[in-house]
Amino acid sequence: MDHQDVAGVREVARAAKNYGDDMKFEPYWWEQAPRPELPSPVVPARIDVAIVGSGYTGLSAALTLARAGRSVVVFEASEVGHGGSTRNGGGFGMTLKTPFPTLAAKLGLKRATALFAGALEAVDYLGHLIESEGIDCQYDKVGRFIGAHRPKDYDALGRDLELQRKHLGIEGEMVPREAQHREVGTDHYHGGRLLHAGGVLQPALYHQGLLERVLQAGVRIAAHRPVNAIGQGQDGFTVVTGEGDVEARDVIVATNGYTGTFMPWLRRRIIPIQSQIIVTEPLAPGVMDRLIPKRRMLGDTCKLHHYYRPSPDGRRIVFGGRAGATEIGDAHASGAHLYRRLTALFPELADIRITHSWTGFTGYTFDTLPHMGVRDGVHYAAGFCGSGTAMAAYLGHKIALRVLGSPEAANIFDTLNHPTRPLYYGTPWFLPPILTYYGWRDGLRL
Ligand SMILES: Cc1cc2nc3c(=O)[nH]c(=O)nc-3n(C[C@H](O)[C@H](O)[C@H](O)COP(=O)(O)OP(=O)(O)OC[C@H]3O[C@@H](n4cnc5c(N)ncnc54)[C@H](O)[C@@H]3O)c2cc1C
Repeated sequence: MDHQDVAGVREVARAAKNYGDDMKFEPYWWEQAPRPELPSPVVPARIDVAIVGSGYTGLSAALTLARAGRSVVVFEASEVGHGGSTRNGGGFGMTLKTPFPTLAAKLGLKRATALFAGALEAVDYLGHLIESEGIDCQYDKVGRFIGAHRPKDYDALGRDLELQRKHLGIEGEMVPREAQHREVGTDHYHGGRLLHAGGVLQPALYHQGLLERVLQAGVRIAAHRPVNAIGQGQDGFTVVTGEGDVEARDVIVATNGYTGTFMPWLRRRIIPIQSQIIVTEPLAPGVMDRLIPKRRMLGDTCKLHHYYRPSPDGRRIVFGGRAGATEIGDAHASGAHLYRRLTALFPELADIRITHSWTGFTGYTFDTLPHMGVRDGVHYAAGFCGSGTAMAAYLGHKIALRVLGSPEAANIFDTLNHPTRPLYYGTPWFLPPILTYYGWRDGLRL
């Protein structure tokens, strides 16, 4: 697909011919699950555990701790669920950012197998959590298809599948180009790969279900109350907020792509990367049967990759992608950019209107692996590298078990050195040239 230059993107955005009259620049998911208005809780001066961030990670940790009898307060800088947890595409799967063969070459077969097995455990945990808690979030294990952007990507996907099958028992199949229309109605790809583990859910409904369980368990949620600093206290920590300090025996940081300056060590290890999504108006009858016939989660192998799926009612396409260097933070421009990419994939959507466009931050790491750990006594789980729909609640639960001193906290993502880079302090100054280069490479299919 063509990479858009700044002027091109802005021009399309300004013209906005593809935007409906009632275009919304906030997540489509919020229509079914609006941001909740919770009453301000009375926060005791001393609590067992303070959690920073109210996404899947924070809520999952809170649930496990409250049910174990701990007094828990979740501090949220904005409205509850403001971050990636109600903005994501809702796709989940046994994915790590680095392909299995690359990881095996880098870390050894045994370690790579353990890491992928950990990712599979996260997907299983998600299914178990949703089922055991009875969370109604349109969870559907429909599988995931990845289209090969270049002919050599098809071979690489095949090698990856072969190793995953052999060492992890993963079920999947390669779909050659001549058969790809049974998965996706485009000629853009050079075939692709189907993995059966994985699927879709409605992310904000999943978040809402978790929130309801957390409140029922007695957790206090302090929205619009950012944590400004975490200091050593007499018997634990002093959590500094604009509305007063709170003493907490333990602290969990669950801020992922929104990690601010209150924890500089973690900020140096998380790369906030913008992701963005558009939603089409309802398609005419029969169109979805041609474009996404199996109603699966779909993606591609572009460096600035795309992910897309039908809306839960099966009438719209929810289409997401990585930010280009040119539209950071601008849902008007990113919407136009994504629209161009959507119609390059599906030319028959050329006159379709977009009803929603939004952006959000996801947290990446320098080794492209998720991490949990403890630093100066403060626990954290973050850096899910685009796999947080499943991984965040899993590692949130594990970090809570660690606070409880349970041996069941142990997992592979707890055993990794968490790297940073010289001159990196949390603002990814190196991204614009890299994203420009990736866009150029994708355009030329190098
Ligand atoms: C557009 C988009 C699409 C995505 N698509 C997918 C997908 O399809 N599949 C997938 O697996 N993953 C996807 N992701 C990633 C996924 O959403 C995240 O990995 C996951 O939601 C992380 O959850 P979290 O609870 O750790 O963090 P978040 O949900 O981001 O929550 C962090 C919270 O911390 C709060 N916070 C920050 N600083 C403070 C402070 N000082 N005090 C108090 N609160 C603070 C923030 O306001 C925020 O609410 C996507 C992300 C985005 C943005």
